[in-house]
Amino acid sequence: MKEKPDRAAWLKGGETQCNVQAERWARPYRFVLLGAPGVGKGTQAELLTERFGSCHLSTGDIFRAAKMSSCGCPRGPVMAEAVKYMDAGQLVPDETVLALIVERAKCFQCGGGFLLDGFPRTVAQAEALEKLLGKQDVKLDAVLSYELPLERIVARLSGRRTCPLCKRVYHVQARPPKRRGLCDHCGAELFQRDDDRPETIRVRMEAYEVSTAPLIAFYRRKGLTVSISAGETPEETFERTLEALNSRGTLVF
Ligand code: AMP
Repeated sequence: MKEKPDRAAWLKGGETQCNVQAERWARPYRFVLLGAPGVGKGTQAELLTERFGSCHLSTGDIFRAAKMSSCGCPRGPVMAEAVKYMDAGQLVPDETVLALIVERAKCFQCGGGFLLDGFPRTVAQAEALEKLLGKQDVKLDAVLSYELPLERIVARLSGRRTCPLCKRVYHVQARPPKRRGLCDHCGAELFQRDDDRPETIRVRMEAYEVSTAPLIAFYRRKGLTVSISAGETPEETFERTLEALNSRGTLVF
């Protein structure tokens, strides 16, 4: 099995280069993933990454990596402040997020393409992304918007467990690991993210409704939004994603 891209340039920023690069494709795909927290974006990102070899560019992972002392990621006062917003379930200010993105803009040139997950999250961020991509002459292929009713989202989030090492995501009922509490892939002890605790979920949902949901219309006006119901198993949602992309002629084989 091929090694997953290690995303070092994305997670650490600065001059860091990736040790394991995303595979170069003749036709790299570039997607933005949208969806409320808990809708299953992270799992779809894994499946899409496996299928297309693209690099999974998650802004949440940058903050979580900075939080882990073992990661060796730079953690100055700005990053420490950002992590506080994350732990409270609030959005990190646009200014901070955009500074991180500008520092990592070379990731948009990745030969394997990319999946942006968790960015953009506000219209101001989407406008800034548009400018950054325009300067690099890079175009998005589609914006995948995953949709699910609120009560199902809350059930998903509170049962979610994450691997601190490889970032694989499980669910205590819907997608349990083979050995309780341990990652199938690397054996590490799974943990519940601070922002998946019930008291924080409500704040995150509000932030989504106010700031991020308007992006669906923003990208629809540009002909990029592809709406996908995230109701069934991750595999079924993934199949629906491929069908939707196929039927609009995005995928070239
Ligand atoms: P995620 O893993 O995408 O759910 O992100 C976890 C948390 O990181 C969010 O609840 C925010 O606090 C913060 N975060 C991640 N990406 C962004 C962003 N683009 N803008 C603002 N805050 C963000």
